[in-house]
Amino acid sequence: MFLAGWVDVRRDLGNLIFLDLRDHTGIVQVVCRPEVSAAAHDKAQNVRSEFVVGIEGEVVERAPATVNAQLPTGEIEVVAREVLLLNESKTPPFPINAEGKTAEEARLRYRYLDLRHARMQRNIRLRHDASLVVRRHMSERGFAEIETPFLTRSTPEGARDYLVPSRLRHGHFYALPQSPQLFKQLLMMAGFDRYFQIVRCFRDEDLRADRQPEFTQIDIEMAFPQRAELFEIVEGLMEKLFALVGISIARPIPLITYAEAMERYGSDKPHTGFALEWKRVSLTAEAAGKLRAAPEAKALRAANSADYSRSQLDKLQDLAKASGAAWFSYVKLSGNESQSPLSKAVGQAEVESVARAAGALPGEILFLIGCRAEGSSLVNTRRLDEASSALRLELAGRLNLIKPGHWNFAWVVDFPMFEYDEKEQRFTAMHHPFTSPREEDLSILESDSARVKARAYDLVLNGQEIGGGSIRMHRRDIQQRVFKVLGLTEEKARERFGFFMDALEYGAPPHGGIALGWDRIIALMAGESNIREVIAFPKTASAVDLMCEAPASVDPGQLDELGISLKKE
Ligand code: ASP
Repeated sequence: MFLAGWVDVRRDLGNLIFLDLRDHTGIVQVVCRPEVSAAAHDKAQNVRSEFVVGIEGEVVERAPATVNAQLPTGEIEVVAREVLLLNESKTPPFPINAEGKTAEEARLRYRYLDLRHARMQRNIRLRHDASLVVRRHMSERGFAEIETPFLTRSTPEGARDYLVPSRLRHGHFYALPQSPQLFKQLLMMAGFDRYFQIVRCFRDEDLRADRQPEFTQIDIEMAFPQRAELFEIVEGLMEKLFALVGISIARPIPLITYAEAMERYGSDKPHTGFALEWKRVSLTAEAAGKLRAAPEAKALRAANSADYSRSQLDKLQDLAKASGAAWFSYVKLSGNESQSPLSKAVGQAEVESVARAAGALPGEILFLIGCRAEGSSLVNTRRLDEASSALRLELAGRLNLIKPGHWNFAWVVDFPMFEYDEKEQRFTAMHHPFTSPREEDLSILESDSARVKARAYDLVLNGQEIGGGSIRMHRRDIQQRVFKVLGLTEEKARERFGFFMDALEYGAPPHGGIALGWDRIIALMAGESNIREVIAFPKTASAVDLMCEAPASVDPGQLDELGISLKKE
């Protein structure tokens, strides 16, 4: 038989040379014996790791004493009759088979070597298998995959655009799509009532550790949508995807409203896999006055933590304050007693009444956080929520409540339509400006915008957002009203979205959809914590491709053709 691949390791025992031959399917041991072929044995002497060789030989069973139970091919070996040297290799900058020991910078610089590693082969091929599942599932449900342009106008998802200068119209620019949002909506208007696409999107954001400037979404849109049907389609897809890695998921995925998620978990992407939950409690006006705080506070009961040391509690206090709480305290309950540093300021009776209201039990610690009395209540509430989420996750970590191998999905629904941007003193769209408000909130769209709820939803898995979407506006008049609340004049709206506004006037059907974060989903399936591990050629956290050294400067001639001259630094 003939085999070809890379030499993983060579072991030279003098009269015998072993070559571990590797390709993406695994490793097989080749043995070169001079008595079988002196030429093959000779050739094998010059072979090194990562050389590419072809082996003509015979598969034989290994002697029982040399069977390697760790290797799927450990019961056989290939006795070489001929060794073909197909190509040599320099000594690689890191050993291909060194799991987890190589600095990521080197891995990214020599990505083509890093990808030879079995784990990377598995991840990237899992991604391929998963794409097939998407295409099959969506096609079975009547969705057609349709490509949308990369060279387009800016699509407003709230991030910065990557711009591409036009050579033929100097001073004009294409934008790379942040998502195909407008195109998929236009496809609904064009009569393709069910669309999907595995699509690259581009966002020029200040990168966080686990973001990529280009990333992939499973983009979905349907006309005449029932939210329940869309959820069912997405859940069916998740079920099939996770089945690929032997994980079965519980369906239907539970729904939680945004308001409830914020109240109980302090987060719109709550980790619902453990029970720690916040509850609203109120201080008396007198107690609040003494603390110079707002009467509303949040309380969380934690079991098995009554023996926390002073320094552990101090650290929690630092975290609560750093993440936005104006004050932090706790009540330790043991037997019939409750002890709290708060008693000094507000009295023991108040402490006990708060502990009772929160339902705290002996053996527990009740954590309390609150916000300031003064300032915008919107901002105060947001900061309190942030602190409550951070504290909850920290406690879950300390109490070891986050169990690996548990898959807690949740749909978060009924998001607010708008967020108030204090700095800019105006409303922005919480999802995006094409999301429909709830029918029943149309009458307060302008008059009480902060209370308007959107027909938007997110899919959350173990505390991470893995998808988001909405039912859209399909009527021009409502779209126009929403733009207005967002501070977009008719003129501006026309300039940016004229084509889209026009399309809404030619029989746009009701429609809605979702986009799923493909890199994140694959990473979760593969058990990787970083999406770079499931992207063949990712960029660093500062948006650099270390291998081909992009971004890079270009030839002055190229700039000239584009009519661009660079500012002097
Ligand atoms: N375009 C949205 C996004 O990329 C998803 C959607 O509304 O379908 O987040």
